Amino acid sequence: MIPSAGTVVRAGTALPGLAGAVILVTGGSRGIGLALCRALAEQGAHPVPVARNREALDTALDGIRERDPGATGVSADVRDGAAMERAVEEVLDRHGRLDGLVNNAGIARDALLLRMSDEAWGEVMDTNLRGVFAATRAAVRPMIKARRGRIVNVTSVVGLTGNAGQANYAAAKAGIIGFTKSIAREVASRGITVNAIAPGFVETDMTASIPSAERERLLERIPLGRYGTGADVAGAALFLLSDAAAYVTGAVLRVDGGLAM
Ligand code: NAP
Repeated sequence: MIPSAGTVVRAGTALPGLAGAVILVTGGSRGIGLALCRALAEQGAHPVPVARNREALDTALDGIRERDPGATGVSADVRDGAAMERAVEEVLDRHGRLDGLVNNAGIARDALLLRMSDEAWGEVMDTNLRGVFAATRAAVRPMIKARRGRIVNVTSVVGLTGNAGQANYAAAKAGIIGFTKSIAREVASRGITVNAIAPGFVETDMTASIPSAERERLLERIPLGRYGTGADVAGAALFLLSDAAAYVTGAVLRVDGGLAM
């Protein structure tokens, strides 16, 4: 029997170390990031979503506040290093601590190589790779001071396997894996873990425009027989953010229904 897409963790089941934890989630206004913010709030944590569009962020916060009434977000662009520093300052001013960072913001601008513009290459590199660098550099400072922290970077199975038509996206996502392992080595002695999650095909705004014929072809290659949900990815992120993953660092966890095994 194929397991169905359920809730992240059974209601009432708490993962150790998440209650009261303050977690910055880039791209937390929609899709995977929003599912994670909701799941964190369910666990008694305080997610702080970051995204550019203020309106979408406010709508997301309305939902998050059902579980975390005081939740606030930060409207900022991950490509802007100074804005990421300010976002971290804002979190520290408000909560006095930063326990985790999830680098989830990402975009796709797909094209075959000969048709790929410099802009499409640059935009994806800036958001998906430089954004991870900028947010991590800002967040790691208070974590080093506190001698504890959790960083989770959202890459993609495409960063492991490559994908025709996604050279920019796959290169950025593969870059995230090298970045994850490097920083994991740099900060391990400070009690900070750094891991990556590699989702397969997840139904969100990002994948909504994929034609149905292509979706069906892909579905045939997924051993678990269904597309992923935001909750599926959130479950893996909760684990890596929790104390249950205290001895896991530099890992890349595929959450892809078996697609890339
Ligand atoms: P999504 O639904 O398109 O949401 C993207 C989120 O990122 C939004 O909150 C968006 O808000 C934010 N964002 C984009 N550019 C940003 C920027 N420059 N600064 C700040 N925030 C920014 O995407 P998703 O499908 O949930 O994907 C989330 C992550 O998972 C991405 O890194 C993606 O590459 C990865 N992933 C997705 C899939 C999939 O199948 N969906 C598979 C593998 C990996 P604003 O636009 O308002 O800024």
